[in-house]
This record gives sequence, structure tokens and C-alpha cells, in this order.
Amino acid sequence: MSRYQPDKLSGEFSLIEQFFKKTATRADVVLGIGDDAALITMSPGELLVVAMDTLVEGVHFPVHTKAFDIGYKALAVNLSDFAAMGATPAWFTLGLTMPQAENEWLQAFSDGLFVLANRYNMQLIGGDTTRGPLSITIQVHGFVPPHQALLRSSAKVGDKIYVSGTLGDAGLGLLAVTGQCQLDNTSKPWVLQRLNRPEPRIELGVLLRGIASSAIDISDGLLADLQHILTASEVGATVDAKLLPFSAPLKSALSLNAATKMALTAGDDYELCFTIPPENESTLIARLKRLKVPCTCVGEIIDEAGLQLSGTSEALPSLGYQHFT
Ligand code: ADP
Ligand code: MG
Repeated sequence: MSRYQPDKLSGEFSLIEQFFKKTATRADVVLGIGDDAALITMSPGELLVVAMDTLVEGVHFPVHTKAFDIGYKALAVNLSDFAAMGATPAWFTLGLTMPQAENEWLQAFSDGLFVLANRYNMQLIGGDTTRGPLSITIQVHGFVPPHQALLRSSAKVGDKIYVSGTLGDAGLGLLAVTGQCQLDNTSKPWVLQRLNRPEPRIELGVLLRGIASSAIDISDGLLADLQHILTASEVGATVDAKLLPFSAPLKSALSLNAATKMALTAGDDYELCFTIPPENESTLIARLKRLKVPCTCVGEIIDEAGLQLSGTSEALPSLGYQHFT
């Protein structure tokens, strides 16, 4: 293929050696970075789970985001998809496109990436490195036992709708980054942490195996993401805005209506939204005692199609739902 300019970065191989090739951490990796492809020993009796997400500068993160945070978040958003499937991550590949190879940036990016990779005993097994506008694509591979994956399509009428953590913090973080709101010295770093270093809810996803009827991660706001469950499951839902979990910084920075709107429609929270049949609620509560992730019931699955929102006078942007009450 002819190109107008070389897409390979100079010193590409030493760059990979220096920043991405780590000592093997997993016994199931027969061959990692260095050959034309990686070789893995598969676990019999488990399903292979695969997810991919791309982050583009200026689209998925603001220009001038710290390299550490970009590396962290690129893996975190993929792990959030794994959490929403109830899956355990194991390996990942990295497609890295950047305008130039700059050592300091690469070191910080790699540090952010491997903070999470090491936490979940994941090994980087390959990738591709090219020149162009900054963009990061990660594909994560891992496992889930057969029939235990958390799908979007199996929510049933009467199931309770839960969300993990607090909602709207990343949206507030984005307002802080863009100078649209002033926060105090404790709130600001905390909401920036929520925006830039989302905590993938992997342990929660595993805990939900066998008891949740459906799950999704909240990347585009609760209303939009819950709607995906409703569509896939062919059901409707009621959500009570008064039950939405808000953090203290969100409550102090915004009016109740603004906080509600933020929690329902702002993206990037990477919490889980899941449904629990009423007969499994006591098991959920018992299992949650060993996990420090608060989970809150915010509504219920109903027969009537669409999403009914109660408990707020906030006028919401039309998101294509049947109606708001
Ligand atoms: P080829 O052109 O033959 O595909 P590459 O230069 O793309 O060779 O890759 C050489 C090796 O380095 C491969 O094992 C590849 O998976 C790995 N690699 C390339 N870029 C990355 C990256 N960004 N992260 C991890 N591994 C990478
Ligand atoms: Mg290649």
C-alpha cells in the first residue's frame, strides 16, 4: 500500500520494548509481544469474552488530558464493558496512534495503563503503533463461565433496577475541566478523579453472576443506557429520580434539578446498571456486604414499553423515550 507519508514512527520497535513489553505475568500466554501474533492457551470450560473501545483525543477525552489518565481510562472503559458482562479480564492488545513518539508522554501513558492491567493480572500481548492524530484502541480478552454472562436482553417485569456508586460525578468533572463551574479544593480533585480514572466494577460484575437478570455499564448516562436494556429485553421501566445516588460534591455544587439531570444524562460515570429479580434481592444484599461498592435501587421493570420517570420536575431533553411522567 502506498502512503503519502510513512505511518511508522521512528524507533517503533525500541518504543514497544521500552514502554509496553513487560515481563510475562500470565502462565497462559505462550507467546506475547514480539512475533507476528500472540499465542494463548485457552481454558476449557470457559467462554472467551472480547470487548474493544477506542478513545480519540478531543472526542472521548479533552485535549491536554494527562497521559497517565489517558492510559488508565483507555483500559478502564474496556474493563467497564467486562464488568457489565460479569467477565474476568486476562489479556489485551493496544492500537496506539499518535502524532509523535515522546518519551515522557509514553512513560506516563504506560504507567496509567499498567496500574489497571497489574491490578487485574492482565498481560499486554500485542498491538500496533502508528503515526496520526492521537487515538487509542484497546481490545480486552477474558473469560466467563457458560450461561453466566450478564446480558442486556433478559430483564423481566417486576425486576428491581439497581445502579452502583454515585451518578453524575464525571459530568460535573467535565464542567470543572471546561471552567463551567467552580468547585472547592476537595470536590474538584475528587470529581476529576471520577472523570479521568473511573473504577471498573469488575468485582461487582462477578458478584452479580447468577443473580442479576441483566446489566449494562453507564457510559452515556443512566437514561440512555437503561434504554438499551429495555429495548433488548422488550420491557419498560419506572425510575424514581428521588432515589438516584448523588455524591456529596454533586449535591453541594448543583441544584437538585441540575444534579438530577446530570445523573440521568451525563456520560462517563462507568457505574453498572443492573436488574435483580425480587427473589434474588436478599442474596444481592448479602453478597454486597463483602464489597465496598454501594448499590441503590432506583426503579423497577414494567410491562408497558418506555421509560417513566417520576420524582422530578426537571425538564429532560427528549432522548427518544416513549414518555416521561
Ligand atoms: P508487524 O508490522 O509485523 O505487524 P509490528 O511492528 O506492528 O509488526 O509489531 C511488532 C510486535 O510488537 C508485535 O508482536 C506486535 O503485537 C507488537 N506491538 C506493536 N505495537 C504495539 C503496541 N502499541 N502495544 C503492544 N504491542 C505492540
Ligand atoms: Mg502490526
